[in-house]
Amino acid sequence: MKSLLLILFFFNVTYLTEVKAHDKRTDGSPESIYSYYANLVEKTHHQKDLRRRNMENLHQGKKELIITIDDGPTPGVTDKILDILRDNNIQAAFFVLGHKIDINGGLNQNTVRKNRALLQRMVNEGHIVANHSMQHKNIGDISGIFKKKKIKEAIIDAHDLMEPFMVNSTKWYFRAPYGSWQSRAAEIINDTPYGNNYYGPLLWDIGGSMEASMFKVRRAADWGCWSKGWSVRKCLKGYVNETNEKKGGVILFHDLRSKSVELIDRYIKEYKSKADYKFVSLDDVKIDLR
Ligand SMILES: [Zn+2]
Repeated sequence: MKSLLLILFFFNVTYLTEVKAHDKRTDGSPESIYSYYANLVEKTHHQKDLRRRNMENLHQGKKELIITIDDGPTPGVTDKILDILRDNNIQAAFFVLGHKIDINGGLNQNTVRKNRALLQRMVNEGHIVANHSMQHKNIGDISGIFKKKKIKEAIIDAHDLMEPFMVNSTKWYFRAPYGSWQSRAAEIINDTPYGNNYYGPLLWDIGGSMEASMFKVRRAADWGCWSKGWSVRKCLKGYVNETNEKKGGVILFHDLRSKSVELIDRYIKEYKSKADYKFVSLDDVKIDLR
């Protein structure tokens, strides 16, 4: 009997310590443990948190197009993309970099001010501002004893800068730089209050790779097109071919170079002229969280 009590005692201590380790708000009392598990149930129910693997094949087959734009903002480029989106009444999701809007991040203050004004314009014009990390570091490659700290810096520090602009969606979206992720990063962020509200890491359906033969451009990614010296016309062929093959989906562009402005403009014209295709919001994507 004594040993049974001893086992129960140790089980209880281990159990409580484990719960405490999971959530600093749990003080070990039955009420706080109940609320800890209620939170978990709630989390499972609405399924908002960062997944262990990238989420891909997001929205193909419905002839619905979702524009996502990464790595900005960039003065002189993002403004022009915003003009095009406004003129076509399309809502996009901008996956922005935290360091570009960080007053204390060492960037030219004037540029930071311009960048923040661009985020404000995104908000005013109804777009979704989303997290693409602080410095565009490869999160899948982060290792070593400061791993936890570095992963939090990459995602949470960026989030804190962006949150005032994340007002046009109830969801917080994350996309990993280079699509590079590790399951440990999901565990680390989901263990913070931020994890409960994040969807991701999200990849894309269209615009993520380059594939061309002598006769046909099958796939194109804007950054790849420009680094290979392709024309906007050639690059557009890859985007259109992939879109038609997949019958829509989440499209990846970047607001870094002026050629992407022209590409986005031509892409929108192409699909605005097709009655069976329509542009929708990232919020309309029913993300399969299996
Ligand atoms: Zn990127």
